[in-house]
Amino acid sequence: MGRGLRAAFRALLRKPVRVRYLTEAGEMVPVPERYRGKITYDKGACIGCLLCIRTCPSGAISTTEEKKVEFSVFKCTFCGQCAEICPKKAVKLGSDFELVVYEKEGMVVR
Ligand code: SF4
Ligand code: SF4
Repeated sequence: MGRGLRAAFRALLRKPVRVRYLTEAGEMVPVPERYRGKITYDKGACIGCLLCIRTCPSGAISTTEEKKVEFSVFKCTFCGQCAEICPKKAVKLGSDFELVVYEKEGMVVR
C-alpha cells in the first residue's frame, strides 16, 4: 500500500479538526497573534506622510480633507504593507475577522 493511501486511512480515523466560533464562555475565538484582520487606524498618530498610499497594491487607501488617510477595507487584500511602512505605527491589522456589513460605509476605516 502506498504511503499516500496509508496517510488517507489514518486521516479517516482521526477526529475532525474544528474550531468553535464562540468559546464555551460565549467569547469570540482567539485568533493567532499575527493574524491580519480589519485595519485599525490611529488618526491622532498619523502625520499624513502618505507612504501607506504609495505602498498599497490595491488602491484601498485615500486621502481625506484633513490631510489624513482612510481605508476602504472592502478593497484591502490584507497584505500588511501599510502597517509595515507607517513610520508612526498608526496602522495595524487587527484581529477582527467579522467583515460582513449591510452598508459599504461600514467597511471604511477613518
Ligand atoms: S493591508 Fe495592503 S491592501 Fe490593505 S490597505 Fe494596507 S497596503 Fe492596502
Ligand atoms: S504611513 Fe502612517 S503616518 Fe503616513 S499617512 Fe499613512 S497612516 Fe499616516
